[in-house]
Amino acid sequence: MRLLEYEAKEVFRTFQIPIPRGDVAESAEEAVRVAEGIGGPVVVKAQVPVGGRGKAGGVIFAENPEEAGEAASTLLGRGLRGLRVRRVLVEERLRIDRELYLGLTVDRRCRSYVFLASGEGGVDIEEVAQRAPEKVIKYAIDPLEGFRHHHARGVAKRLGFSGGLMMKLSEIAKRLYEMGVEMDAELTEINPLALVGEGFVAADARLNIDDNALFRHGDLVQRYGGGELEGLSEAEREARGLGLTYVELDGDIGIIGNGAGLTMATLDTVNFYGGRPGNFLDLGGGAPPERVEQAITLLLNNRRIRVILLNILGGITRCDEIARGIVNARRKGGPIKPIVVRISGTNEEEGIRILAEAGLEISGSMEEAAERAVALSRGGQT
Ligand code: GDP
Ligand code: MN
Repeated sequence: MRLLEYEAKEVFRTFQIPIPRGDVAESAEEAVRVAEGIGGPVVVKAQVPVGGRGKAGGVIFAENPEEAGEAASTLLGRGLRGLRVRRVLVEERLRIDRELYLGLTVDRRCRSYVFLASGEGGVDIEEVAQRAPEKVIKYAIDPLEGFRHHHARGVAKRLGFSGGLMMKLSEIAKRLYEMGVEMDAELTEINPLALVGEGFVAADARLNIDDNALFRHGDLVQRYGGGELEGLSEAEREARGLGLTYVELDGDIGIIGNGAGLTMATLDTVNFYGGRPGNFLDLGGGAPPERVEQAITLLLNNRRIRVILLNILGGITRCDEIARGIVNARRKGGPIKPIVVRISGTNEEEGIRILAEAGLEISGSMEEAAERAVALSRGGQT
């Protein structure tokens, strides 16, 4: 479960990690009131469960309550990276001297938590890790020993701090670890941790809780559980209701697979050939024709999608049923888009026959199908 920023910050507060003064608002009027309560310049932030909101225009600075109201009007109800904004967080504007990054995640290879820190916060940390890996400190935590004061101080020193600031930074690092463990976090991040004068404030907050541990956090699920669905687009919600695993992406090639691994491999292959996947859609096992039909209809109605690519391995899933679903979806009408199909496995011949009758050609391999879908997405011939 991924908490929204303001939800994560409420948890941060209970662990005494410093956060800016502020409150959540669901309307422009509420945003004005929160800003009045704060007094002075504020920042208005879209509450959607994705990163990079700043770059996408989801973080707006306001000098006074009136501007805060305008910022809230701009953000509320609009889409941000495909997600509808239903709430904004209005916070005091910090006078940031420096931005750091602190994070805690699970390292499956070490079978332990790993603490991450960088003096280059605020930006995309994955990008820093790629460009300049030496700028991201990784500290593997011994699960029996935990992350003690001296470990945390070591990290703060490696970030170049000393004296009082070093002590304050290490205290926050230690609390972040304690919160992560207690909350069963898969990932928790402060990006940026803002240096403001002689102290640090978590300007942004992220807390993803391991779904397998949610039974230990019933109160949190009750309080925030709706946030997950809230962050989804209309189509994603609809898909969830149909039992499909569907995530919208930025590209124009619609992808349908059966099984998460195969679907991911299809996305990678499309990427490899220079195409841009527009979604991840996993039919799951043994998909009946209706579900295939619903999945295709979903992508036909998604305006960003120009080409649909199906990659199906028949097992419990029968290729002839998949083929029937495809044909039915096309028969229903709606926008016409090229469909590239690769099916293989149980009842393959029958599936191919049904598709051929409907005028659809079959690709012999995933690579061939991906290449063809990419060419079609560029308006090219195959
Ligand atoms: P994200 O883009 O989704 O990670 O959203 P953030 O909450 O991290 O905000 C994006 C950026 O806005 C941050 O990296 C900061 O540089 C900036 N920012 C956010 N809050 C403040 C603030 O109170 N004061 C100032 N000066 N900058 C802020
Ligand atoms: Mn951030």
